[in-house]
Amino acid sequence: MYDVIIIGGGPAGLTAAIYNARARLKVLLLEKTKLGGQIVSTHEIANFPGSIKTTEEETSGPELIKRMAEQAEQFGAEIQLRKEVTELELAGQVKKITCKDGSVYESHAVICANGAFPRAIGCEGEQELAGKGVSYCATCDGAFFEDMEVFVIGGGNSAVEEAMFITTFARKVTIIQNLSELTADAIAIEQVRANDKIDYIFDSVVEHIEGDGMVEAMTIRNTKTDQLTRFEADEEDGLFGIFVFIGNVPSTKLYEGKIPLNEYGYMITDEAMATQVEGVFAAGDMRPKVLRQVVTATGDGAIAAFSAQKYVEKIKREVPAR
Ligand SMILES: Cc1cc2nc3c(=O)[nH]c(=O)nc-3n(C[C@H](O)[C@H](O)[C@H](O)COP(=O)(O)OP(=O)(O)OC[C@H]3O[C@@H](n4cnc5c(N)ncnc54)[C@H](O)[C@@H]3O)c2cc1C
Repeated sequence: MYDVIIIGGGPAGLTAAIYNARARLKVLLLEKTKLGGQIVSTHEIANFPGSIKTTEEETSGPELIKRMAEQAEQFGAEIQLRKEVTELELAGQVKKITCKDGSVYESHAVICANGAFPRAIGCEGEQELAGKGVSYCATCDGAFFEDMEVFVIGGGNSAVEEAMFITTFARKVTIIQNLSELTADAIAIEQVRANDKIDYIFDSVVEHIEGDGMVEAMTIRNTKTDQLTRFEADEEDGLFGIFVFIGNVPSTKLYEGKIPLNEYGYMITDEAMATQVEGVFAAGDMRPKVLRQVVTATGDGAIAAFSAQKYVEKIKREVPAR
């Protein structure tokens, strides 16, 4: 019997684990793949307080996550990987969590920190060619496009920052944005505008991606004129890359019908990160919020852990035998 089970090993879940373990609670963190969540797909974090650029390694997503996990384990949190939570029984004071591999765990409180996953374009050919030229992670796949052409879909911070990173490898990067301007912050826009390897196509969306095994062609549509433009891979390259950064979808399917979600699928909480189910808290990108970043995910994680701690202390006072 754990005091708190945390679902998800991204920045929100790891921070909750640090806080709850440091409060001497018995904590289990379950992560379905590897630790880190979305931030391990970025090569550099420039805006997390304290992540001053010294060497690339020290500011990378994986390095930050490694430190968070070590900190949680030093305080006594138990972390289990390849544990995808698939079923939950959340009513009452003993919560039951079941994983895909059949393992079952019990706790007094649960912190949901399932985060989000990249939004897909939803066009023809995208799914078939995912991992074959269509990518959602520049750190993972950027190096495959050494001296080739790459298209980045999106115009916000992630798109702009990852486009700059991809120029380390690619000979040319074209940003395709559905709006008439970039929506990244001012510093990022200044930097990207100064990079002469980067070109822009505005007011356009991807209609169709084609290729026999790898991405070989793409058709985009101008949203103002409806004009279609087809790009084909350079004959010598034989393929090009499409990197998609157009936002996220919350990982909350598991909770449908169990915990109230808003109209977009984000899990509703109060200021203390409490959901509408007693003893269940939520933190990070799966909540409705105006800014989805590591700093806000870790802030949520700390508050959720504090609230879970108070809840566990309360029910232990009420039922001292537990
Ligand atoms: C390309 C990119 C670049 C970014 N750059 C920055 C940046 O420079 N600075 C910044 O502050 N933010 C950045 N962000 C945003 C930042 O990564 C997120 O805001 C942050 O990771 C959210 O943390 P989280 O813990 O809420 O969720 P996530 O990071 O999404 O982590 C959720 C975790 O839960 C796990 N999980 C999900 N479902 C289950 C389940 N059923 N069972 C068990 N485990 C489960 C997932 O595998 C995942 O590890 C970037 C995001 C992307 C995609």
